[in-house]
Amino acid sequence: MTTVPTSAPADPNVLLEVNDLKKYFPIKGGVLRRTVATVKAVDGVSFAVKRGETLGLVGESGCGKTTTGRTVLRLEKATSGEVLFEGKDVLRSGSRQMKLLRRDMQIVFQDPYASLDPRITVGESIAEGLVIHNIGSSAERRERVREVLGRVGLHANQMNRFPHEFSGGQRQRIGIARALIMEPKLVVCDEPVSALDVSIQSQVLNLLKNLQREFGLTYLFIAHNLAVVEHISDRVGVMYLGKMVELAGRDDLFREPLHPYTKALISAIPSADPTTRRDRIVLQGDVPSPINPPQGCRFHPRCWIARDICKEQDPAFEEKRKGHWAACHFAGEF
Ligand code: SF4
Repeated sequence: MTTVPTSAPADPNVLLEVNDLKKYFPIKGGVLRRTVATVKAVDGVSFAVKRGETLGLVGESGCGKTTTGRTVLRLEKATSGEVLFEGKDVLRSGSRQMKLLRRDMQIVFQDPYASLDPRITVGESIAEGLVIHNIGSSAERRERVREVLGRVGLHANQMNRFPHEFSGGQRQRIGIARALIMEPKLVVCDEPVSALDVSIQSQVLNLLKNLQREFGLTYLFIAHNLAVVEHISDRVGVMYLGKMVELAGRDDLFREPLHPYTKALISAIPSADPTTRRDRIVLQGDVPSPINPPQGCRFHPRCWIARDICKEQDPAFEEKRKGHWAACHFAGEF
């Protein structure tokens, strides 16, 4: 099992620990619907998140970051591995324990419209978690909904409206209110701004930051946009084809990436300053299929510094510098 890369391994403030998590999806075929292949969406991922921090998970579409977030919350059934929330075993919890854990572990989805029932008012949508967990009287729930709407920058009198009456940004605020009303400790933010206009993105990101400060929230923030992840994260994990390839403090990772894949991703971030020129690294070829990932280092078919060993040996995910982990035989040698 891979050693858990926490920012401080013995830190009692670790809220979430993920150890060697795997999620494989079987592909069925033939008349008997037998398993003919397996998609290794998440293939041995380990990380930890400290209380009050934001860990960004980034990577191209299909790298397994969203599946990681969903499996941590048990919205997908893990194939193997371990998820510890405040030391409690999430993957092996019974239904009663899991119900309690769900109050503390919430999610904000990418598409707020799809996550809201168009037939019920946003007030009812936001209060849904309280109803499921039998918290408060009907009047108390309405009061709580009013309060939470104010916290996310909406008006209490909007609680009787329906989702279609709101803009995309407002709907995402409603999605955040749904999570917030449960007073969670951990919020998995799954691409929460990628469906929004650029002008709205920063408003929602700033709202998330303010709420984190106010309520001491911990975020697992999943996004494909590196600039967004840089804006909000304390530490950043980079995923490629179901594996974590680099994990470090934000500034360390952006200033001095150790994995060629991270370097290529950073080189593609547009610079707001026209006088700063980045030499963009254009990766050749597409991301290989997670059904049949390349032998050795999974990145080797696209890596410009690959050598023979890369085709044969899968590099270990190791701490190369204090708090800076990478899976590369030639980390930083570019
Ligand atoms: Fe490139 Fe080899 Fe490092 Fe993989 S192990 S990223 S192929 S240098």
